[in-house]
Amino acid sequence: MTEGASVQILIVEDEIEIAETLRNVLQRELFVVDHVARLAMAHEAVRSISYDLILLDRTLPDGDGLSLVRVLRTEHPGLPIIVLSARGDVRDRVAGLDEGADDYLIKPFALEEMFARIRAVRRRPAVLCVEEIRAGALVFDVVHDEALVAGVRLDLVRRELRVLATLMKRRGRTVLRESLEQAVYGFDDEVQSNTLDSHVSRLRRKLSEAGAGLEIHAVRGVGYLLRAST
Ligand code: CA
Repeated sequence: MTEGASVQILIVEDEIEIAETLRNVLQRELFVVDHVARLAMAHEAVRSISYDLILLDRTLPDGDGLSLVRVLRTEHPGLPIIVLSARGDVRDRVAGLDEGADDYLIKPFALEEMFARIRAVRRRPAVLCVEEIRAGALVFDVVHDEALVAGVRLDLVRRELRVLATLMKRRGRTVLRESLEQAVYGFDDEVQSNTLDSHVSRLRRKLSEAGAGLEIHAVRGVGYLLRAST
């Protein structure tokens, strides 16, 4: 599944062993993976990061994972959610799907089956409801995760692409530094305080060389803002 490059997945799971296994196999497929063990942290994470997929345990220390599905369905209608649960009787599964989960995987499950379900939910057209974002002369192709100016693909490394994707999704608005760092590195990677700035400055140069017609403004002490050049 090499298409996994720069797809961001959030694992919400309080059993550390399961979470670690999932994280390892998903990272091997080049997914960018964040893990949180509590619902409250999951709510915070989805507020600041645009995930491409959520793997959600139900029985969490601070509540039923389905309450997150309810919120996500209102705020991010196209975001695929796969519920992972030991509660596998028909009533539980129906409840999960009724809340708007895309799939329901009963624990224990084979990793191969999980990958098959991930492929399936990512193929669904609803997931691709936004296929491209345009600003200035730049088209960000969300499906193939690439940036194009006049049909020519910009040569960006993965982290520059993550910064650009995050800014494009919230173009015209200030994006917090923390949100950008999390989009680029995930929660656990060490973040050097100046590396985000160097990604941004390389990205700026590449955008200007390509004639993207976009400016990235630094908002001092807060973050960055992307908008079309005037
Ligand atoms: Ca659990």
